[in-house]
Amino acid sequence: MKKKKLLVFCLDALCTDDLEFMKTLPNFKLFFENGSMVRHIEPIYPSFTYPCHCAIITGNNAGKHGVPHNAIVSVEDEDAPWYNMRSSIKCDTIMDVAKRNGFSTCSLSWPVSGAADIDLNMPMIVPLNYSGYNPLQFLEGTSTQELLDRYYWKHGRYIKGKDRNLDLYTMALATDIIQDYHQPDVMLVKMCDLDTVRHIHGIKNDFVKEQLRKHDEELGVLLESVKRYGDYENTNFVVLGDHGQQDITKTLNMNVVLKENGFIRTDENGKLIDYDAYCHSVSLSAWIQLKNPEDKEMHDKVYKFLLDLKDDPTYNIGYVFTKQEVKDQYGLEGPLDFVIEGKEPMAFGTTLRELDFFRVYLPEGQHANKASHGHLPFRDETTTFLAFGPSVKQGVVIERSKMINEAPTMAAMLGFEMENVDGEVLTEILR
Ligand SMILES: [Zn+2]
Repeated sequence: MKKKKLLVFCLDALCTDDLEFMKTLPNFKLFFENGSMVRHIEPIYPSFTYPCHCAIITGNNAGKHGVPHNAIVSVEDEDAPWYNMRSSIKCDTIMDVAKRNGFSTCSLSWPVSGAADIDLNMPMIVPLNYSGYNPLQFLEGTSTQELLDRYYWKHGRYIKGKDRNLDLYTMALATDIIQDYHQPDVMLVKMCDLDTVRHIHGIKNDFVKEQLRKHDEELGVLLESVKRYGDYENTNFVVLGDHGQQDITKTLNMNVVLKENGFIRTDENGKLIDYDAYCHSVSLSAWIQLKNPEDKEMHDKVYKFLLDLKDDPTYNIGYVFTKQEVKDQYGLEGPLDFVIEGKEPMAFGTTLRELDFFRVYLPEGQHANKASHGHLPFRDETTTFLAFGPSVKQGVVIERSKMINEAPTMAAMLGFEMENVDGEVLTEILR
């Protein structure tokens, strides 16, 4: 039997709500006509980019794969480094297992993949705010040298300067690689811009439609590249997202709340002196970390305080979980003792400075984003999963499933198994 191939086109912040419009676009349409889908994919908790990308390729929740946040958060380090390196993931990825099974592998702009053992690897690793002309400094040693030698001289320009665009770079590499290597067996191609557009403009608007059109054009180029230079008939194509987003109207500065109630001490400039409980933002959810979790009395005091906040409509807290509850219910482990989330979608800020508007909320007009994520997996918007190819049935629609099932299902398309994972194979959609 001829070896099957897999090409995953991942759109950051692709929402279930996008499906109706995608049906009208020439390339996404092929998935509805020829393949199967899961309408609602519940991400892992938190629905954050890096934890979810790790879930997509490992089949595991954050506690098991080891990447619970984009950044390695700590109370001491406000500018915490991001989880850039593959070594942060504590288990196999589908790329590891594919390679062990004799497949060639290629990963483009996937988070947490620095220095991964992938044949052709270009990780998402240049810092978000970098606008200089030497992105190579971040790619050397973390990307495959062969890939840099072959392509950086001609496509590196896309990721230089203030208007750099990672999606252009990723697409230029993807098409060249499909042509030059006759399509690596397993390819991950990750796009960023839909997420950016949603953060800036909100989840539903014409900017989002315009961006989906661009992604449809990119998909068309990938499909045509595979037709011309790869093995189209033997390829399973997958379109998926890492999380949805939710529109937000306010940001609660939880550390100001903790400070006003005596759990945080600062100097007159708002610099942290000491704390009993501190908030890390995961955008639409927040982690409360105790300085001394062994102090049962303080633990119970903070827990009661959070439950009281939930009862006070001023704060719009809808969910309070203990460390044990998020571990049992969502497989989430991290530097946290409690997790809280808004009743209505609400972002969490971490400033320690006094605010004069409504005491604890960020002043109107100062929100960084109109929409965001980091929320509980079951809350709208969810993301979605579309597939077609030789291993995929035609016309099956699963209404709801989980992100952790994607890696085992994609592995099954290739004919191997992901062992000891939280997720399971979605056999209903497979031939
Ligand atoms: Zn994302």
